[in-house]
Amino acid sequence: MRKRVLLLRFGELFLKGKNIKVFENALINNIKKQLEGEKFDFHVTLGRYIVSNYDIEVENRLIEKLGQVFGLFSLSPATEVFSYREEIEEVVNEINLEGMSYKVSVKRADKKFPISSMEYAKILGTIIWNNNLNPVVDLYNPQIEINIDIRNNGRAYIYTQTIPCQGGLPLGTAGQALLLLSGGIDSPVAGYLMAKRGLELHALHFHSYPYTSELAKEKVLTLAKELTPYVGNIKLHCVSFTKVQEAIHVNCVPEYMITIMRRIMMRVAEKICEENALGAIVTGESLGQVASQTMQSMTVTGSVVKTLPVFRPCIAMDKEEIMAVAKRIGTYDTSILPYEDCCTVFLPKNPVIRPAIEKAEREESFLNIDELVNECLAGEEVIEINRD
Ligand code: ATP
Ligand code: MG
Repeated sequence: MRKRVLLLRFGELFLKGKNIKVFENALINNIKKQLEGEKFDFHVTLGRYIVSNYDIEVENRLIEKLGQVFGLFSLSPATEVFSYREEIEEVVNEINLEGMSYKVSVKRADKKFPISSMEYAKILGTIIWNNNLNPVVDLYNPQIEINIDIRNNGRAYIYTQTIPCQGGLPLGTAGQALLLLSGGIDSPVAGYLMAKRGLELHALHFHSYPYTSELAKEKVLTLAKELTPYVGNIKLHCVSFTKVQEAIHVNCVPEYMITIMRRIMMRVAEKICEENALGAIVTGESLGQVASQTMQSMTVTGSVVKTLPVFRPCIAMDKEEIMAVAKRIGTYDTSILPYEDCCTVFLPKNPVIRPAIEKAEREESFLNIDELVNECLAGEEVIEINRD
């Protein structure tokens, strides 16, 4: 028997807890969902998942899709054989090094296999040595590593390539949260990073139509869509912020405009969390990046959220690092499109860098906060963004 398969590895870490079954079932479900529409078989063996019986022409597409599933750590395209010496050696016999230095590694999970790993690696290494012209063995830094993984399921897997996946925890195993999604670079990255820890996402976007254009909203829809291969389907809550901004503009001092806007955003976010049973708020803030992202600013904006944690996964990241993630996951090019954000409308010249809660509260006393929040919620539009 000889079969082309994909060998999937998941994190060993999360398998130590009490909730092994919950994690495993979620991961398996997520893998199957990710490959929906493809023809394949799926098997679970001790410590590995095997995808087989697919069309070899679509292998790269399957690898790309599996590479987006949180909870998978790496995968290898492999040749599966029965774990008999003749079968393994028949495959190894055909290996052409094409001038590359090599090393053979044997892993023997199945101790019934008659030879030790070390010994068998030597035997296979010799076969390859004899079959190739001017072979070079390099045990420390080989150009090609030939792995033979002898598993407990009566099969052996022979592979040379290990492709890293996302890592993280299976989507959904940490609950659900609300991502504050602007059109910028940071918030999509924040959503990706939290989903990687197992959170499913709703998203909330504030627009200032007609001050901001339809295109600005389209941009956010595109960003949400670009996240779906990783984070799954997203419910996007779109809320008009125009009235709030006008009210602040008319009634409050300009330096506190952004602080108060942020506090109202947080209040709206907390209400939407309540209505949808979401357990946290996620933002793309990064310490010191702009005036509204100092410690004091975050204290003053965060203090209106009473019942939930606010997660800021980009808090310790440099802009360069955030941009690198955005490029890798494919949101960067959309994020840098030049449409205005609601926060740039009415932007004050000198926003306060170290706001005080008392001062923010005083400025807010000139507004009817509850009414503004309720109006935001009343005009809420919910758009389902589904993964293709
Ligand atoms: P981003 O790149 O995510 O827009 P930023 O560096 O531009 O972030 P700010 O504009 O200060 O930073 O926004 C900080 C965070 O507040 C954002 O990361 C996002 O989570 C949230 N936010 C800002 N504007 C909006 C908006 N219009 N709708 C929803 N959330 C927003
Ligand atoms: Mg922004």
